[in-house]
Amino acid sequence: MKDSFGREISYMRISVTDRCNMRCKYCMPEEGVENMGHDKILSFENIERIVRAAVALGITKYRLTGGEPLARKGIVSLVERLAKIDGVEALTMTTNGTLLADQAEALKEAGLQRVNISVDSLKYNKYEEITRGGDLDAAFAGVNAALHVGLAPLKLNVVAMAGVNDDEILDFVQLSINHPIDIRFIELMPIGQAGKNNGYRYLSSDEIKSKLPGLIQLDKQDGVADLYKYPEALGSIGFISPMSHQFCGSCNKIRLTADGKLKPCLHTDEEIDLKGILQKNDDELLQDTIRNAILRKGDKHHLNDGGKPVDRSMSQIGG
Ligand code: SAM
Ligand code: SF4
Repeated sequence: MKDSFGREISYMRISVTDRCNMRCKYCMPEEGVENMGHDKILSFENIERIVRAAVALGITKYRLTGGEPLARKGIVSLVERLAKIDGVEALTMTTNGTLLADQAEALKEAGLQRVNISVDSLKYNKYEEITRGGDLDAAFAGVNAALHVGLAPLKLNVVAMAGVNDDEILDFVQLSINHPIDIRFIELMPIGQAGKNNGYRYLSSDEIKSKLPGLIQLDKQDGVADLYKYPEALGSIGFISPMSHQFCGSCNKIRLTADGKLKPCLHTDEEIDLKGILQKNDDELLQDTIRNAILRKGDKHHLNDGGKPVDRSMSQIGG
């Protein structure tokens, strides 16, 4: 369906948990993370009901995320339930990949089509530092398993940070040349720990591009990513630039948090509670509530003109 500004809303990101097996410095604090209680988290049955209602409104693309979606028990069965719904045309996942190797085949069989795997450094020490203890080998076991079972095209999400991983731009690009892996450089947004001035510094997509002479711009776009390629490369290079090239005018997304709040926009605190509605067992009312939430989506974010960053972190909202 169209929102109040004529944008076709066709994509929902579903956070299936706020928990994570890592603690990336720009995303979560080291300690003192209060997890949502199990009673607060949406059941698989309720997620399925929401998706059925959203499909009826023309939302055809779904991405499971978190927290770490693979840390949610029974995730394969959720994938299976959602993949069977008529009208779900795309079912994908964003994951840190470290728990993927063992589950890739089952996820593919259950109907998951693709994964984005987040890897911000290709250096052991730095990866461990950014993620506060993450294991790069485990993440790459996930990458290899995804390629092996055909969770493709495979995208690697890289949050670009000045002074942190800007010395690895060419290494990531090399991966996209030699392997069928699409690299997506993402601008750091002032959300979660990154909104608290913790020393992690934003690097613009234009600065990265300036280090990559000879890139050929592709005609097509991939969602909100501008796409490029090197001749003969097996994968593409994309830039997701929410800060420097605001793409709100073509935003097609809404988000569902793990505790059942619909967020029309990532960058505002406005949330519409679906949990209370779900208890009423009235699927028409559920559909109307989602429709009204879409109609409340604002025209753009205000992070570049003095707007206040949102309170919740990406791990809570669903990145
Ligand atoms: N745990 C999974 C993962 O890391 O892929 C899924 C959830 S994570 C919140 C989703 C994506 O959001 C990751 O690619 C992560 O790097 C990104 N992210 C988290 N905080 C961010 C921020 N402040 N700015 C930009 N991207 C961010
Ligand atoms: Fe966990 Fe993903 Fe946040 Fe890292 S970015 S702490 S892996 S939710």
